[in-house]
Amino acid sequence: MMAVKHVSTSEVHKGQIGGATACGFDTTSKLADWEVSFEKITCLKNGCK
Ligand SMILES: [Zn+2]
Repeated sequence: MMAVKHVSTSEVHKGQIGGATACGFDTTSKLADWEVSFEKITCLKNGCK
């Protein structure tokens, strides 16, 4: 499963860079805020959990 980490919050979301997370964050507008992650999803919003 693809996951991305939101660097400023250390929250891990389901999704990929260059699109949107499963909970609806846009990962294309601030690319520096996102990095590919292989950690467990920590976001509890609908779509990610
Ligand atoms: Zn999320």
